[in-house]
Amino acid sequence: MAEIHAGSCNCGQVTFSIKGNLRDIMACHCSQCRKQSGLYFAATEAKDADLIINGAEHITWYSASEAAKRGFCKTCGSTLFWKHNELDRTSILAGAFDTPINVKITEHIFCKDRSRFYDISDGLPQYDGPPPILKTP
Ligand SMILES: [Zn+2]
Ligand SMILES: [Zn+2]
Repeated sequence: MAEIHAGSCNCGQVTFSIKGNLRDIMACHCSQCRKQSGLYFAATEAKDADLIINGAEHITWYSASEAAKRGFCKTCGSTLFWKHNELDRTSILAGAFDTPINVKITEHIFCKDRSRFYDISDGLPQYDGPPPILKTP
């Protein structure tokens, strides 16, 4: 039996669950994640087939680029998802989970775009751009 992971937005109108494995968490410091979050994104990822979203009508999908869109609750603004338009997987903001998840941040990406008011000092790999290996859950 696969473990079930569940999460929600701040107001509770959007909930989600994943029955299956989660990818390690990537911290993305790109300018889009920086502006949307005020800091950076920490996101895991699941296969679309493993992800069930309830309250999807409360999600706004914003296309910040031609490659991907960003899903957030239109009522409370909680950032929930990042979805590449051509991949069958969805990134899920790690802070949105209500159940414990057994994955951790393993690397920092797009560090060149980060704000300079904080340092990355956890000793994990840092990349100026995208991750060198495209990982899957
Ligand atoms: Zn909400
Ligand atoms: Zn980013």
